[in-house]
Amino acid sequence: MVKQNLVISDASISLEIFAAESCLEVPAASSSIIKMLKSESQHGGKITTFVASMRNSSPTRFRPTEVRSEMDEQISWVTHHPSALGMFDQIVHASRGKQIVMFLDYDGTLSPIVQDPDGAFMSDEMREAVKDTASYFPTAIVSGRCRDKVYSFVRLAGLIYAGSHGMDIEVGDDKKSGEDVSFQPGSEFLSMIDEVYKILLERVGSIPGAKVETNKYCLGVHFRCVDEKKWSALAEQVKSVLKGYPKLKLTLGRKVIEIRPAIKWDKGNAVEFLLKSLGYANSDDVLPVYIGDDRTDEDAFKVLRDRNRGQGIGIIVSKVPKETAAAYSLQEPSEVMEFLRRLVDWKRYDLCASM
Ligand SMILES: [Mg+2]
Repeated sequence: MVKQNLVISDASISLEIFAAESCLEVPAASSSIIKMLKSESQHGGKITTFVASMRNSSPTRFRPTEVRSEMDEQISWVTHHPSALGMFDQIVHASRGKQIVMFLDYDGTLSPIVQDPDGAFMSDEMREAVKDTASYFPTAIVSGRCRDKVYSFVRLAGLIYAGSHGMDIEVGDDKKSGEDVSFQPGSEFLSMIDEVYKILLERVGSIPGAKVETNKYCLGVHFRCVDEKKWSALAEQVKSVLKGYPKLKLTLGRKVIEIRPAIKWDKGNAVEFLLKSLGYANSDDVLPVYIGDDRTDEDAFKVLRDRNRGQGIGIIVSKVPKETAAAYSLQEPSEVMEFLRRLVDWKRYDLCASM
């Protein structure tokens, strides 16, 4: 078993602790953001801001500064983030001479978003498409769910599973050493997370529709079924619990408040770690493709966007315009399945043609 240690700088800890205190995720240190947060704190507006973020979660809907018609917004969206199906030929052309590595989020990407998070099952057709994809390209599932849970949904061997937003990675056997490669950068927080889970179950239980989910290295408080009038009370409860745990931070996903260790480790770090584990660190011979629908997937999109000479492709799953670092878009899981099937068909044809 190969374990790797994560070094956390004091600066990153203090920033994340401040973010936890302010109930807002601060993805990039910025003095103006910190000033804004401090100002809000002084004026008692923290909960209002947080509830507004809850309303806009997953990720923020694109909000133009000037008034534009919906059609203008849509045209701008498809211009800047064209359909990955419409641009399929260009995408496979970019992969010429390179190994495609697929990264797939689970909820909202391979399965529909449903009221009950325990019922987010993927279809047999989607499972078949993912299985075929993994037979031609290294494929990783990168999810906010705990690894065991996402595996119980996907039920496919031969894939890499990264659960808890990449804080619980199981790569499999290293090709050279034969050792099992795994990585759990948040392991020192396990008992703390479990403690907070029990407190949240008690505190949040009185709010109808709220559901607390443990994902081992992080927690989720789902508010999809909570009356919007109760969101403020819910945010207050979660915030009051987190006050006693400055080493944890809050982030927002699709209708879920997430609690995780305040360490600099996200889905973007997980993608970099997995590429390195697969032997593609700083390699020009790889084309990573990441498909996801959530605010937390933006960290991975940014990593791919900023790779050497843009050698990475981010695809956001969304029907509406949103702020995103992804280059392409797909509207819903059925389009993700279509994209995966076309990728497999293209690869099969390509292999036959080269024989
Ligand atoms: Mg998702």
